Amino acid sequence: MSYILTGKAQLEKAILRAKKIKPLVKMISFGKYAVRGSKGDIYTVKFSRNSLGEKLVECDCRGGERGLVCFHSVACLELHGTIAKRRRIAVRQVEVGR
Ligand SMILES: [Zn+2]
Repeated sequence: MSYILTGKAQLEKAILRAKKIKPLVKMISFGKYAVRGSKGDIYTVKFSRNSLGEKLVECDCRGGERGLVCFHSVACLELHGTIAKRRRIAVRQVEVGR
């Protein structure tokens, strides 16, 4: 199951939890992350887009399987945003360099 990312408002509670727990996030590949939960368990979070171009977030924890916004996905979202931004800059530099 996954949820559609619509904005910051839906993430507020999960952001607070993520700040409190500060889970460890590791990138597996671009858009795919491993995150350590509050009890030391590891979950996989994936970011993708559907055919409408909406951002989809998927986590294999119990909440995530029910389509809920969990703090794991929010913790990964921050790292994903930073990496995505860097990649956009890198692509632009390659284009300019040509
Ligand atoms: Zn989760």
